[in-house]
Amino acid sequence: MNSFLQLKNISKHFNTDKKIKVLKNLSYNFNKGKMYALMGPSGSGKSTLLNLISLIDRPSLGSIQFNENIINFDNNKKNDLFRAKNIGIVYQQNNLLPDFTALENVYLANLSIDNDREAASTKAKALLKKIGLSNRLNHFPSQLSGGECQRISIARAIINDPEIILADEPTGSLDLNTAKEIFQLLNNQKSPNRLIIFATHNRFFANKADCLLEMTNGSVKTINV
Ligand code: ADP
Ligand code: MG
Repeated sequence: MNSFLQLKNISKHFNTDKKIKVLKNLSYNFNKGKMYALMGPSGSGKSTLLNLISLIDRPSLGSIQFNENIINFDNNKKNDLFRAKNIGIVYQQNNLLPDFTALENVYLANLSIDNDREAASTKAKALLKKIGLSNRLNHFPSQLSGGECQRISIARAIINDPEIILADEPTGSLDLNTAKEIFQLLNNQKSPNRLIIFATHNRFFANKADCLLEMTNGSVKTINV
């Protein structure tokens, strides 16, 4: 059987004043049911790679395939819907909408694929309660700690029960204990029908993944299997 996510011969260049080649002929297959850690120094292309997988950016060369479907990067509308339904994204920080409450941040992610406001609100409340934030529903991101914001980001990422979770240094701005809690929450989202990829500088967390990948020379290398 083919892998769930197949990256084939991906290259990514940025054309600023001079051309920067970030990813070079990168090929890798990801399977569901697993959690992958992506390591590598700053500037090695981790975020660039995650932005391609989330279809936020497009490769300069190469293809991305989910199951049997090769992504057409000219079809923004279809890709936006695919992302909303199937990909939950968690960033390092500041990715919540500042003018919306915790509840609204989570609720809006559900509303983007389903127009039932009542159901979205009920679902968002239940999810926030489950992760220990029922007393923070009406707080704005500026009124919440870094750890609380990351919990909300994770709730937002999972409310549509996505097949893929991408987390870009999700614990990078947290103190060690909070980082452990957030990593645990992310780890708890593992399921047979889901692929999780997270970028990190933390080897302790990376070692807990099923598969540890390292960015080197614009490509990925498996460190363990
Ligand atoms: P990492 O996440 O591993 O720290 P990034 O993927 O953010 O690395 O960046 C990899 C390289 O690509 C860096 O040299 C960065 O400056 C460059 N880069 C990233 N995004 C852009 C962009 N939009 N335009 C130009 N250069 C970029
Ligand atoms: Mg990055």
